[in-house]
Amino acid sequence: MNQYLPDKVNINGEQFRVYLTEEEIQQRNKQLGQQISQDFKDKQPIFIGVLNGAFIFLADLMRYVTIPCEVDFLKLSSYGDEKVSSGQVHDLKNIDADIKGRHVILVEDIVDTGLSMNYLHKKLSQFAPDSLSIATMLHKHEATHHDVKIKYTGFKIPNLFVLGYGLDYAQEGRNLAQIYILEE
Ligand code: 5GP
Repeated sequence: MNQYLPDKVNINGEQFRVYLTEEEIQQRNKQLGQQISQDFKDKQPIFIGVLNGAFIFLADLMRYVTIPCEVDFLKLSSYGDEKVSSGQVHDLKNIDADIKGRHVILVEDIVDTGLSMNYLHKKLSQFAPDSLSIATMLHKHEATHHDVKIKYTGFKIPNLFVLGYGLDYAQEGRNLAQIYILEE
C-alpha cells in the first residue's frame, strides 16, 4: 500500500516529528486485538468508536479481533482548530445500537484530561450494558485528572500535542500513517 509517511509535518507554522512508526502502531494493535479476543470470547462485543479521531485505530484494531463482534459510532464536540481542550463536551451524534445487556468496548483515539471518557462512561452506563470497557490508542496519563478506568491502552505518551493516524490538527493530518508529535 502506498502510504503518506513524511519524516516531518508542518501545519499552520507548527512542526511535527515522527513519534510512533506504522510498524510500532500495528504491532500494538495486534496485541490489543488478541487480548480483546481472549477477554470477550463467546461474548460478541460491540465496539463503539468515538468520531472522528478513532476511525482509523478502530478499523485496524477490529481486524485483529478474531471473534464475532459488532460496531457503532458516536460523535462528540471536538477541539475545533485549537490544540487545547475547551473543557466542555456535548453530543453531536448518538449511537443507534441497543446496548442493554451487551458487552461494550468504547474506542477512543486519545485520552487527555479524561473529560470525554468520563462523560461517555456515565452516559452509556445508563443504557445498562453488561460490561463497559474503554480502549484508547494513546493516553496522556500525566494530563488525566478526571476519573477514567482504561482497560486497553495502546501507548502512554507525554503531555504534548500529537497528530496522524486519525488524529488531526485543524482537520489536517488524519491520513498520516504514523503518529507525529509537536516539536518543542
Ligand atoms: P479529553 O476529553 O480526554 O480531555 O480529550 C479527548 C479528546 O481531545 C480526544 O478525543 C481528541 O479529540 C482530543 N485530543 C486530546 N489530545 C489531543 C492531541 O494531542 N491531538 C489531537 N489531535 N487531539 C487531541
